[in-house]
Amino acid sequence: VTEFELIARWFTPPPGAGVLLGVGDDAALLAPRAGEVLAAATDTLVEGIHFPSGSPPRSIGHRALAVNLSDLAAMGAEPRWALLALTLPALDERWLDGFAAGFAELAARSGCALVGGDTTRGPLAVTVTVLGAVPAGGALRRAGARVGDALCVSGTLGDGAGGLRAAQGDLPPGAASDALRARFELPEPRLALGRALRGVAHACIDVSDGLVADLGHLLSASGVGATVEVDALPTSDALRAVCAAQARELALTGGDDYELAFACAPEALAALGAAGVALTRIGTVEAAPGLRLVDGAGRPVTVARGGHDHFA
Ligand SMILES: [Mg+2]
Repeated sequence: VTEFELIARWFTPPPGAGVLLGVGDDAALLAPRAGEVLAAATDTLVEGIHFPSGSPPRSIGHRALAVNLSDLAAMGAEPRWALLALTLPALDERWLDGFAAGFAELAARSGCALVGGDTTRGPLAVTVTVLGAVPAGGALRRAGARVGDALCVSGTLGDGAGGLRAAQGDLPPGAASDALRARFELPEPRLALGRALRGVAHACIDVSDGLVADLGHLLSASGVGATVEVDALPTSDALRAVCAAQARELALTGGDDYELAFACAPEALAALGAAGVALTRIGTVEAAPGLRLVDGAGRPVTVARGGHDHFA
C-alpha cells in the first residue's frame, strides 16, 4: 500500500463546506465565511505518553480529534476543517480501519472536514490541526474574568484520570470502571456549550491538564484570583464508586476531562441550561490573585500537585 493508496482508502472524506480544494494537492484551499475569523489549534498524542500502548485504534482516532475540538469549544468556535499527521510503526489495515472510523465518526458529527495530512513511518504518534470559525470579536478567551463572576464547570471532573487508571488495569473490573474508561477513550468535546457561552462567559478554558492547572491559567490571564469550594466539584457516581478515596484529588488535578471551565455573571447561569450538559458553580472570582481551595466549612484545602506538566 503506497501513501496515495493509504490516503485514498482511509482518509478521503466527502468534501466539506468551504472546501475549494481538499486532500490530494500540495495544500488545501479553504474559504471562511465573511465576518468570521478562524481559530486554529494543534495537539499531538504519542503512544505510551498520552495514551497507553495497545489502546483501541478507534479510541486513538477519536481522541486525537476530540482533544483538538475541545480547544475550539473553549474558544466558542465551530469546527470546520482538520489536518492529520500520522506516524505509524507499520501498515496494519485492521488498525487503520478502527482509527479512521473513530476519527471520521466524530469529524462528521462535528461538521469538521479532513482537508489534508501526512503519513510517515515511526513510533505511533498522531498530530491533528483543527480550524474553526467564530464571528469576528465573538471568541471566548482565557482573559476577561471579572471580580464577582461565578466560576463554573461542565459535566463531571476526574473521570478522565480515573478512566486512564481503568484502561491501565489499575481499577477493579466492572460497570463503573468501564464507564470511566469510556470517558478517557472517547471524550466528548463540549462544542455546543462553547457556542452557547459566546457573549455570556467572560472567560473560558477547557480542562485538559487538570482543574487546578487550567483554572490557574484562566485566572492569571484575567489578572484575578478565585476561591473554589472543593466539596462543590461535580464527580460521577462511577468515579466515587471505584476511586472514592481519590475522587476529590482526581477532580482537582487529574487531566483528560475535556470539560469547559468558565467565568460568567452569576445571573447568566440560569440561561445556559439548554446546552446539553450539566453545569456546576464551583466558586467565585475575586480580586486577590491566586486560587484558594476551601472545603464546605471554609477551611483551606491543599493538593499534592498542581496538574499535568508535559516536561516533568
Ligand atoms: Mg486547551
